[in-house]
Amino acid sequence: QVCPRLGIREFDMRDHVLPRAEGVYEGLFGRYRRIVAARCKDPEILGRCQDGGVVTAILCYGLREGLFDGAVVSAADETMPAAPKPKVVTTVPEAIASASSWYTYCPNDLALADAERMGLRRVCFVGVPCQVTPVRKIQLADPSFLDNGRKKPKHIERQTKFLKSFGDIVSMTVGLLCTEVFTYEGLMVEKIDREMGVPLTEIKKFNVKGKVLIYKKDGELVEMKLRHAQEYARPECHHCGDFSAELADISCGGVGCMDWTITILRSEKGEALFDDMVRRGLLETRSMDEFENSMKVLLRLTKKQRDRVPVPPGRTPRYVRPEGYPPVPADPPAG
Ligand code: SF4
Repeated sequence: QVCPRLGIREFDMRDHVLPRAEGVYEGLFGRYRRIVAARCKDPEILGRCQDGGVVTAILCYGLREGLFDGAVVSAADETMPAAPKPKVVTTVPEAIASASSWYTYCPNDLALADAERMGLRRVCFVGVPCQVTPVRKIQLADPSFLDNGRKKPKHIERQTKFLKSFGDIVSMTVGLLCTEVFTYEGLMVEKIDREMGVPLTEIKKFNVKGKVLIYKKDGELVEMKLRHAQEYARPECHHCGDFSAELADISCGGVGCMDWTITILRSEKGEALFDDMVRRGLLETRSMDEFENSMKVLLRLTKKQRDRVPVPPGRTPRYVRPEGYPPVPADPPAG
């Protein structure tokens, strides 16, 4: 029902999640209302965060103002060095402590079960595109198929709750731009720890800017060619065509720039929250005219990601790409 790669794809859910309306544009990277470069002004967040800190600022603002009663994020796993784990945060200090990205897979959706158990009802979900899509699929799932005429009402009720509740508690989705993530065993243990000799316990954070940047706790910066890291990419990612979290309320990533977050405001709700933050002086923004390179990289990576998805046997390219998308050389011949 909710697998991001089986059944309906992101681009075919646009009409349900982000319907066409005045002020909604449709680009290569999905529907959106506005795209800006933004940076948070809170020095505490900036000291810990990735790029412009917009995602963490959104969480802090939402939690402080009571817009969210919790958030699902990736946070440092205290039992494994340089590894993330899915986590529910309910306070501003917890949100700030979870800032920054890890680049190994972290199944954030699983923490929705914790959020549900905790009784949260207005959760901000932060995740990569393949995690935002299942949330949307849950929210859109029609549970009527569960009633086959033979089940008892209490069974239907229990199954409906199981199918819908993890999505119903999500009030805002923030998607993180993503081209691939890497295996922990391969990139962290084999490459960085064993081969490069950087102990994982000494790593403070990572970033990817055309190359992998490894920030150590002692202040040293170690660089690695991106293609060396890509040897450890999860194979599943090669089947993913959604670079920019097309179904999120807001999509964020530091694409093609340093210290700023390229922020795609997609839904009315997402745009309103962002504008409130700007009005209150929590964020500074710049026009994308000043971030021409970021726009170019965003478009290039979106296309590259869309093109890389192989057409499954017995299917046509339309199954993996939107209507009217130009032919991709690797696609099987038509007919
Ligand atoms: S590339 Fe796609 S499948 Fe891989 S982690 Fe990112 S969003 Fe998920």
